[in-house]
Parts: sequence; C-alpha cells; structure tokens
Amino acid sequence: MKKLKEFPYSRILVLGLAKSGTAAAKLLLENDRIVRVNDIQASEEDETVSKLKSLGAELILGSHPLFVLDDIEIVVKNPGIPYENPILVEAEKRGIPIITEIELAYLLTEGLLIGVTGSNGKTTTTTLITEMLSKSDQPVKVAGNIGLVATEIAQTLTEEEHLVMELSSFQLMGTEQFRPNIAVLLNIYEAHLDYHKTMDNYRTAKYNIFKNQSSGDYLVYNADDPILSEAVLTSNAMLIPFSVKKRLEEGAWLDDEWIYFRGEKVVNRKDIVLVGEHNLENILAAAAAAKISGASNEGINKVLATFTGVKHRLQFIRNHYGRLFYNDSKATNILATQKALASFKQPVILLAGGLDRGNEFTDLIPYLTCVKMMVTFGETRKKLKETAKLADIDVIMTENIHQAVEKAYKHSEEGDVILLSPACASWDQYRTFEQRGDMFIQAVHTLL
Ligand code: ADP
Repeated sequence: MKKLKEFPYSRILVLGLAKSGTAAAKLLLENDRIVRVNDIQASEEDETVSKLKSLGAELILGSHPLFVLDDIEIVVKNPGIPYENPILVEAEKRGIPIITEIELAYLLTEGLLIGVTGSNGKTTTTTLITEMLSKSDQPVKVAGNIGLVATEIAQTLTEEEHLVMELSSFQLMGTEQFRPNIAVLLNIYEAHLDYHKTMDNYRTAKYNIFKNQSSGDYLVYNADDPILSEAVLTSNAMLIPFSVKKRLEEGAWLDDEWIYFRGEKVVNRKDIVLVGEHNLENILAAAAAAKISGASNEGINKVLATFTGVKHRLQFIRNHYGRLFYNDSKATNILATQKALASFKQPVILLAGGLDRGNEFTDLIPYLTCVKMMVTFGETRKKLKETAKLADIDVIMTENIHQAVEKAYKHSEEGDVILLSPACASWDQYRTFEQRGDMFIQAVHTLL
C-alpha cells in the first residue's frame, strides 16, 4: 500500500460515496486518518459501506446534518455534489478546505502526470495519449473521469509509470496542490452552467489544471481559442500551443499533408483513420503531449493508423453493402452533432432525437447540407421533423433506435454514411448514452 505524501490533515469528512468517495475513504483509513462518511443514499447493508465501517469509518447516512463537520479539518467531496449543498456552504463558512478525490490521487503519484481537460474531446485525447505512449513502449496507465477511479489506479503505479488523467471541471474545482507535469487544455465551450452558474466560474475551474504548474512543467493549449490563449499567459509552465489554423514553430500544427510538432513531420495525414475535423484538434493536442512525454513518431503513427474512435464518439461500426455506420451516441447536444456532421463530405442519413429539454434545433440547419435524410426518434422526434422540413430534407419519424436503423438502411444507397448523432440526451428512452449506442450497434449488426 502506498502512503499519502504531504497530506497534513488527520480528521476528514468524505461527502458522497459512490465509487470515488468509497476509494478515497478506504485510502484515508489505510493511511491512519480519522474518517467520517456522510452519504444520503448509501446504506450500512451495502458491502462496500460495511467494509469502510470495519476499517474504522464513522458513518452518518441518510441525511446531511451540519454536525458532520464538527472537528473536521478537510472535506473530500464527490465531484457531482454541487457547492450549494448545505454541508459545503457551511464548510466554506467555517473555512474548511474542500477537495475532490483527484487531489489524493495526485499525492500518490510519483511518475510523470499528464492531465487532460476541456469541454469536449477529453476522453478521446486521454485515450490517444495513453495509446501513443503505450505503443512507444513507455509504461503508462490511465484514470480519472474516463471511468477509472484515480486513487485506485494511482495506488498501483510504479515510480516509472506515467499516469494520464482525464479531468472534469467538477474534479478540478476541488484541487489544492494538484500539479500535472503536462496539462492539456483542449477548449472551453458553454457547458455545465447549472453547476458552475457563470462562465467565469467554469473557466476558473478549468484553469485549476495549470494554477500550480511551474517552469519545468508544460501546458499544451488550444491556440485557436483567443480567451484561452490569453488566460494561459498567467501560467508559469512552458507553453505548448496547438492549432488547426496556423503554423506554430513551438507547438503542434498541420497542413494538408502532415501533422507537425516543433517543426518536425510526425504523421502523414493520409495514414490517419479517425474521422472528424474536431478530432484533428484532439490528435494535435495528444501528439504534443505524447512527444513531450517521450513518445516516438513510430508509436504515434501506429496508433493513428488503427484508432477509429472511442466507443460512442463518432465511432466507426461497419461497412454494410457500402453503407458506413457511425455511432456518435455521446453527442447529447446540438454542438456535438454539428461537429459530427462537419466531419463528412459523403451523403449522410442522420439518426437524431431523445430527451426534450425544451430547446429548438434550428442551430443544426446550417450543418445539414450533406444530410439527405433525417430519421428521428424519442421525445424530440416531432421537433426534429420540423427542423428537417425547414431545411427541406426528407424525414421519417420512428419510435426507437432499432426502427430508425431499419428505416435508414431501407432508404440508403451505396456510399451513404448512416450516422447516429442524436443532439439530445438519452434519458427519455435509454438509461445512458452508452446503452443507446449499444442498441444502435446491435441494430446495425442484426440488419439482414
Ligand atoms: P469528453 O470526454 O470531453 O466528453 P469525448 O472525447 O468523449 O469528449 O467526445 C465527446 C463528443 O464531443 C464527441 O462525440 C464530439 O462530438 C465532440 N468533440 C470531441 N472532440 C472535440 C473537440 N476537440 N472540439 C469540439 N468537439 C469535440
């Protein structure tokens, strides 16, 4: 078991268990700290909860009474819990610091730490960097927002191993000393304002990724974003820009033929199988971070010649009688669907629809130029039908993904792209976007 370095707190409140809270509580108990757990849903009968109790945790379950903060020196909160939670409001009043589990993971990490954040593209870029290092024979592990609890992975790291962490703004808000050797800041779009309230708060949370960096560290950032380009000037790290628009001698950029890093040709673009203009940004950011971490051009090339996308993100599924099926179930908003549509020059049959959040879809219209037909489903099927009509595109309304795939195939021709990119959340019909994407994949594979 690894020891937490430089964590000067002995009485800790873990607020919200779930996977990361449970792992944090266990880690702290194993490091001889006094741990109190407060969770509204968990029950003592849960195996993981009773295990924490047997390790010595004090459990306060079912409500959030303010006395859970008595004698507490620091709160480790689950990233999903909003700061209006009465316990957090009170903790702030009492001057008790609030962190998230990634801070603890940082304190366990000895090797090179690469942190990736942004509104969009985190999982893709994190995966690309990890693969590029792995294919360059560099020891590496991946953790964080990608679905792997950071402290659990950090516990298993050797001194030589690199750790690539996907970081959400929620996780980054709760950092004190957290300092990646290489930070990657992809983009900042309007998002999560229900949580962060203002764009300024959201940006500040994202900028936490570089707030503790020093001159020996690197900050890879999107030089095509003017606000970001200005914000990074306050950083002490070495700035490594990337751009899909301009030539950058000190960073990563591209022309029609090549991807470059610091003036060197790294990858020939014809060898890249990943589609999507937005993915070029992810590739540039990943190549820059990987090169700084010691990846070889050969390793980077191997990855880009085979990587067809992270599951449910513009993921290529199959070529069925000349129809190319793509699963972009992760596109739960209009912006993501715009990006997906901008990726294709061939005729597209677009499968879209899902949870109705009350918004209209007119912002999709300028991106529908390559779309020859829309097949809609879910709560928003009628709204999307109206959008198709406004854009003068054929449209079919269906009940669910299975029907949508059948109809799309029936009306398709050789050379068409059949794209699931719903522009809506999945919760009206599916538990998660992953389940929706899996349904799509299943439907594609069962086509006669
Ligand atoms: P995240 O982990 O940040 O949610 P993903 O890599 O899972 O990002 O991609 C989610 C969706 O975001 C993709 O399906 C795509 O539509 C969009 N996307 C990915 N990368 C970018 C980017 N660099 N810029 C804008 N949109 C992107």
